[in-house]
Amino acid sequence: MKTQLLLALTCALTLTGCKGNEESKEALTVGTKIPTIPVPAWPSGKKAALSITFDDSTSGHVHLAAPLLTTRGVRATFFLVTGNVESEFNGTTWEEWRGVHAQGHEIGSHTLTHRNLAEISADECEKELSQSKAKIEEMIPGVKCQTLSYPYGSCDTEIRTAAARLYTASRLINPFTIGKDVSLHALPSIMPAAEFPIEDLLTGLHAAFDRGDWVILTYHGITGDEDLPGDDIGYDPRPIEALVTLLDDLEKRRDELWIAPMGEIAEYIELSTHVPAAMPD
Ligand SMILES: [Zn+2]
Repeated sequence: MKTQLLLALTCALTLTGCKGNEESKEALTVGTKIPTIPVPAWPSGKKAALSITFDDSTSGHVHLAAPLLTTRGVRATFFLVTGNVESEFNGTTWEEWRGVHAQGHEIGSHTLTHRNLAEISADECEKELSQSKAKIEEMIPGVKCQTLSYPYGSCDTEIRTAAARLYTASRLINPFTIGKDVSLHALPSIMPAAEFPIEDLLTGLHAAFDRGDWVILTYHGITGDEDLPGDDIGYDPRPIEALVTLLDDLEKRRDELWIAPMGEIAEYIELSTHVPAAMPD
């Protein structure tokens, strides 16, 4: 596992030259080479960038992760499976997600029903992508749903193209960090899985920060001592203490890091790429 993590955290620069888990292999061998754009220097002299993301819209996100992050002054990205919200199994409500957004966190889409987009028709895929975005923007006034997380990290060229029509950026589940080039609709991320010792995760993160990379972390379930609404504790649930340990460690390098929701960093890269090098005062 240590080897796998180090691979995850050191293999970078291009998204096509690295082998990861089965999910990522599938995603990256479908279609042609993924076009990339250069990552500009980070704003305000920051050395590296970090986005913390959460998939599957569970109660632990609403009741544990979001309040902790807010208290620590860290804004994150929560990807919602919109068809699950308000369901008895899921246990979260739109009112709660409005509250998470009001705390400054980004609300992104994890599709309508969490189907594997590579296994459904183009029409069904379009519906998963567009209706989830529309639902989020309808139910959370003022939100700009501009980011997507592919269920199972699964996508191909056609799906990326469809995502690009609706979103600023889309995220995979792949064991990479982002180096000097990026494909905004095939963004890699690292899962701090239960089998990865936190020390190894932190070591890898700091190495990535030293290189000036953008790291995206992907959490799923977050659990605590208390009983939460619904039965959906999420995939690979991690105790909230793991997030506390991460935030404590990040605090040491807070001045060097641009920690922001995925959409904000993606938007910065996209705009920077299209802005003339010499801007008028
Ligand atoms: Zn998911």
